Amino acid sequence: MMEAEGVVGHENVVRSFMHALESGRLHHAWLLHGPKGIGKTSLAMALSRRYLCESQRACGYCHACRMLQAGSHPDFLLVKALEGKRDLAIGQVRTALDFLALSGRESMRRVVLIDDAERMNPQASNALLKGLEEPSAGSLLLLVCSELMYLPATVRSRCLMTPCAPLDEAASLQVWEMMGLDASLIPLARMLGMGTPGRAACLMDERIAQAMQEWVELAGHAAKADVGRVEAWLRENLASLPATLVAELTVRMHLPYLERETDFQRQQRIADALQALMRWPRDAVRHTLRRVPTFFAVFLQLRSALRG
Ligand SMILES: [Zn+2]
Repeated sequence: MMEAEGVVGHENVVRSFMHALESGRLHHAWLLHGPKGIGKTSLAMALSRRYLCESQRACGYCHACRMLQAGSHPDFLLVKALEGKRDLAIGQVRTALDFLALSGRESMRRVVLIDDAERMNPQASNALLKGLEEPSAGSLLLLVCSELMYLPATVRSRCLMTPCAPLDEAASLQVWEMMGLDASLIPLARMLGMGTPGRAACLMDERIAQAMQEWVELAGHAAKADVGRVEAWLRENLASLPATLVAELTVRMHLPYLERETDFQRQQRIADALQALMRWPRDAVRHTLRRVPTFFAVFLQLRSALRG
């Protein structure tokens, strides 16, 4: 396991990036893709530091490294969806391309990092194509993407596709330690994000951590749960929590019951209920269903499946 200036894991990506950089054959557009919560954005930051560092080692001491640390490097631009906006807008992409077309102020190099690139709307990704087809000298574009299927093929095909893998257990634990996650929350973090430790970052919020722990105690075994308290908890907390994580956590807690069940029909009913839970976040959004009653209904379905 390697820790390259705040990056845990992804050694193979750093290695091939450095190899390309040192041999002078660096692709002008890297598409870092993989599941959410594995540190792709931190990885892209680390690659930027290496690219812009005066000695290409992300030394941490040179002028370029210090400016990057301070967030004031004139040749680095981070692009992400604006607060409260779902899409990355065409204006943001145009600004990024203009930025790349200028020659570097500090060096001959410029970097644009586009976070959550799948959130570019069609106009924005069309605009980006032009920049991908006619890269300017010394420019490096780093795209970070968790939902590859939402990125147009025309964009994908012009980038160097760089898959990023989930982290192993030791690396996940290391990320939580670096985050400063309280040791008492590690079992919960494991359920939420083993391999994808960033998904458990919400537990750094004390209120969320407390509510999630209550949920584990309350709903950890649906067959024995007090349904009145479950419903009350949902009313009080569901709207203000990452709902997808609540559903996933509930599924994770009940997988052992599915695995242990020997009666085929009961096993199938449990499987159906767990699938309904997995689908619930999307179904609730797509059909604008009321969240609490629909979640509660699926929970009751699971409960009765477990009780046989
Ligand atoms: Zn440096």
